[in-house]
Amino acid sequence: MRRISTEAIGTQVRELFLASARLLPAGLRDRLAAAREAEPSPQGRAILDTIIGNASIAASGQAPLCQDTGLAQVVIELGQEVALEGPPLQEAVELGMRQAYESGFLRKSTCHPLERRNLGDNGPASLETIIVPGDIVDIRTLAKGGGCDNKSRLLSLPPTSSRDQLVRAIVGAVLEAGPDACPPFCLGVAVGGSFESAPRLARRALIDLWRDPPMSPEEEGLASETLSGLNASGLGPMGLGGRTTALGMRLKLHPTHLASLPVAVNVNCHSLRTGRAVL
Ligand code: SF4
Repeated sequence: MRRISTEAIGTQVRELFLASARLLPAGLRDRLAAAREAEPSPQGRAILDTIIGNASIAASGQAPLCQDTGLAQVVIELGQEVALEGPPLQEAVELGMRQAYESGFLRKSTCHPLERRNLGDNGPASLETIIVPGDIVDIRTLAKGGGCDNKSRLLSLPPTSSRDQLVRAIVGAVLEAGPDACPPFCLGVAVGGSFESAPRLARRALIDLWRDPPMSPEEEGLASETLSGLNASGLGPMGLGGRTTALGMRLKLHPTHLASLPVAVNVNCHSLRTGRAVL
């Protein structure tokens, strides 16, 4: 067994939230630059220039990417040959997240659901733990803004839906998000699974948007068809018109019940705050 301290995991969580609040993933920076060059709408180009300029200011350390620094989500793949030592994992993750939001001057956004009273420490973090073969700990983080999380959707399509109906349903769900979710969007989509698993798969797809492994040819084809539909919609940057409605989509196909076709659409704004570290 390999021994890993939960405190070391908490430290990684802290560093990932601190870094992702200010630095967009490289794949997203490249997409923004390419979209700026290809955008035919002057208004769209001006907004993309502002988003790119904002990202540069944030990367220089002067301010977070957005005033909404998000609710903290953590996905950990835990090798079954790892023996964890130290405080309980949830506690260590919470501590790392709280330290990041405190020391990085990131806005704490969690509140009581009825009283709407701010809880003051951005906790609790949502933690999903997956046991996998091996002896490593693979940590992924997502700081999810409220505006775009509000617009994420879980659809239950008729199992007889055609490919065209499926694509139209995903495009429709994303377009419904409109300007409220600060387009251009980054999208994680799961087709299949269940009411329980589809949102988790879509979140994972979103976090891994520009990471390996590549999508299968079938997933790639469906994602690209859906992206084309979105970018032909005219919604554009911040919903003010243009061709750049979505910057990227990772789509995951998963076996499902023969009576079901769940589709989870995790909508993220252009401020995708994700991180990954492996111990
Ligand atoms: S949706 Fe994204 S860019 Fe818009 S306010 Fe929320 S975190 Fe910021």
